[in-house]
This record gives sequence, structure tokens and C-alpha cells, in this order.
Amino acid sequence: MQYGAIEAGGTKFVCAIGDETGNVMEKATFPTTTPEETFSQVIEFFQSHKIEAMGIGSFGPIDIDRQSKQYGYITSTPKKGWSGVDFVGKMKEVFPVPTGFDTDVNAAALGESKWGAAKGLDSCLYMTVGTGIGVGAIVNGERLSGFTHPEMGHILIRKHPNDHFEGVCPYHGDCLEGLASGPAIEARWGKKGYELEDKFEVWEMAADYIAQSLMNYTLILSPKKMILGGGVMKQKQIFPLLHQKVAEKLNGYVQHPNLAEKIDEWIIPPGLGDEAGIKGTLALADQAYREEKGI
Ligand code: ADP
Ligand code: ZN
Repeated sequence: MQYGAIEAGGTKFVCAIGDETGNVMEKATFPTTTPEETFSQVIEFFQSHKIEAMGIGSFGPIDIDRQSKQYGYITSTPKKGWSGVDFVGKMKEVFPVPTGFDTDVNAAALGESKWGAAKGLDSCLYMTVGTGIGVGAIVNGERLSGFTHPEMGHILIRKHPNDHFEGVCPYHGDCLEGLASGPAIEARWGKKGYELEDKFEVWEMAADYIAQSLMNYTLILSPKKMILGGGVMKQKQIFPLLHQKVAEKLNGYVQHPNLAEKIDEWIIPPGLGDEAGIKGTLALADQAYREEKGI
């Protein structure tokens, strides 16, 4: 089966042709400029291929409620020109094939559960710490959603005692994304993340915030794996800090090998590396295809 996959981010769109095994045959990247320009590049890329289903994992917020008139739209994004864009509609006009639509992070969680670090498990969490913080999850074998998709990157956490930074989230100021995303780290310390590599206090503070969120997700969802990707997580020294801090914060309340000798197999980088999102959108395409064909 030949599928199309779109991983739509605030800075770039990754498009791929692949199949139901997660194999990527061809890939192209386009900058996210205006919807007109970016969509025309995306359409041109797919037009030379015969695709039988499409998967779209998108930045949000998006409308994933199939009963809604705005299903398939990007809704209230602060990204200029992209609010109120009918993403699924625009694609279906040109490619009238079964189309799966979810957040980029739910797609990545699905990809990891099918082919990556959570393969064979019916539960996992996928977090990206990049320009924003987004979190997706597989719960009981299904992509997690409610009346809309969760926004677990915007939860409230306790301020680190040494942190006097007000936060960068345009909606909440010092929510998790406001304090621990790439732009937050840059604004607080006055340098790019990769220029701060040897500054322990930078990563200790970021790890403290991320660990608080992982504690909360553990208490609420009990994910069998917690997978962390995105630009900031390229700082691999954050992982051992997370292992230590999550165990400390839970303080023995949750008893499981995941919180003891297996903690470094529980809080981990993506098994699919930078391809978690794009492979996950292939899995979304496959789900849409099977659903529509009743197989
Ligand atoms: P996006 O979230 O836009 O899809 P990324 O996941 O690459 O893209 O995240 C970009 C953010 O991550 C930027 O704020 C950047 O400063 C930060 N970042 C990228 N690489 C690194 C790195 N090696 N170390 C620390 N921060 C990084
Ligand atoms: Zn926020």
C-alpha cells in the first residue's frame, strides 16, 4: 500500500511517501510560510504519486471532533495566517482518499507504539520539547483524545526556587511550555540552547520542570513508556537528571520497577529518532485506510 504522510510543524512541513510497515520511500521538507505557499508545495510533492490514504499529524490547536463543522481545521493557533485553515478539506479536495488527522505528538506516540520504543505496548506517552512543548499518548491501545486533543504541554507546575523568569507562553506565561521550551530557555539565559551545553544549572532547571510534568502524567495516565524528543532533548544530559528527579518527586508512592532499576528504560529518547512523527503519520494513514475499508 502506498500512503502519503504530512508532519506539519510551525517551522516546517515534512512530507513522505511510505507504506503500512512504516517504511519511508521518499521525503521532502518545506518551510511553513503562508498556507497558500506551503500547501501548494505539499500538493506538488504528492501529485506525482498514487497514494491510497493520507496521514496528517499537525501542530495545533486543531479540531479533531468528527461531529464538528470545523473538523480538520487548524483552530486558534497564534501562528500568523494559519488560524481557521481547513487542512483536511484542502488536502481532500486534491487527494480524495481516506485521511487520518491528529496532533503531531499523538501521531508520534502512535508511531513509537507501532514501530519504536513502545513497540508491542498498549500505552505510552510522547513528549516533544522544542519550539513548544507538546504531548501525545496512547492509552489502552488508542490515541488519547477527549472533546478535543489534550494540551499537556501547558500544565501548571511549581516554580524552581532559583527561577525568577516570568515565562514565554502567550496564554499562560509560566506554564510548562512557558518555562521549559527552547524559546523559554533562550529567553531566560540569553543564549541558544546548544550554546549552553556546559551550564549545569540550565539543564537542572529544565529537567526539574520536565520531571514535574512526567510525575503528573505518571499519576494520571501511568504510561508504560515515556518517550521524549524535540530539539531541547538533544541535550542528552537531561535524561539522567529526569531519571533521578522523577523518582525523587514520586518519593516511593508509586511502586514499580519503572521507578527503580528500570527507570532508564522507562523515560527514554524516541526509538524512531527524528522519524517518530513522520512514521506515526504513516500509521495514521493506515488506520484511516482500514477504518474506511472496514478491515
Ligand atoms: P520544532 O519544535 O520547531 O519542530 P525542534 O524540536 O528542533 O523544532 O525545536 C527547536 C527548539 O529547540 C529551539 O528553541 C532550539 O533553540 C532548541 N534546540 C534545538 N537544538 C538544540 C540543542 N542541540 N540543544 C538545546 N536546544 C536545542
Ligand atoms: Zn501555556
